[in-house]
Amino acid sequence: MPHSSLLTTKVYLLLGSNEGNRLEWFDKAMDLLRAGGCVVVAQSAVYETAAWGKEDQPDFLNMALCVATTLLPLQLLALTQSIEHQLGRQRTVKWGQRTLDIDILLYGNEVVDTPALQVPHPQLPNRRFALVPLADVAANLVHPTLHTTISGLLAVCPDALAVRKYEF
Ligand code: ATP
Ligand code: CA
Ligand code: CA
Repeated sequence: MPHSSLLTTKVYLLLGSNEGNRLEWFDKAMDLLRAGGCVVVAQSAVYETAAWGKEDQPDFLNMALCVATTLLPLQLLALTQSIEHQLGRQRTVKWGQRTLDIDILLYGNEVVDTPALQVPHPQLPNRRFALVPLADVAANLVHPTLHTTISGLLAVCPDALAVRKYEF
């Protein structure tokens, strides 16, 4: 993977899985992120949540990562998609069951709005399962377009799905 910038950006990713050995996908994803040019700076606890959007499927585990990288946003998306692919994700039903999903929640303070990539992730304020892990690693970070901290977004998040800490 080429490193086309000398500047390191702090990026926040959300890992999600509801198929197979869910924790093992997270470990493998972190290894592949490191191999692809990301330094994992911080990781949240792991949380379990009932499926959002399409409810007739197993519960999800989610975890947020803070990574430092010189990859540009679209290069990072290519890396995360290649990792999903390597870990066996089949893209079938929208919001369906998957071994591993990696969403780019935030890329520094940058705003990207293209068909392939929207950052900040547009659904972040509506998803407790994303805000709870993100708050572990970035509670006081100010969202670049909503101008509210992650803990502030969590305090007003309309999502009623319970997010439970997953003990392992
Ligand atoms: P959601 O994005 O609502 O969580 P999803 O994760 O199930 O849904 P995917 O099938 O994983 O959706 O991704 C669909 C497309 O979303 C990808 O092909 C990618 O191009 C695009 N995309 C747009 N913004 C982002 C982002 N911030 N992070 C990851 N993918 C994104
Ligand atoms: Ca997702
Ligand atoms: Ca995704």
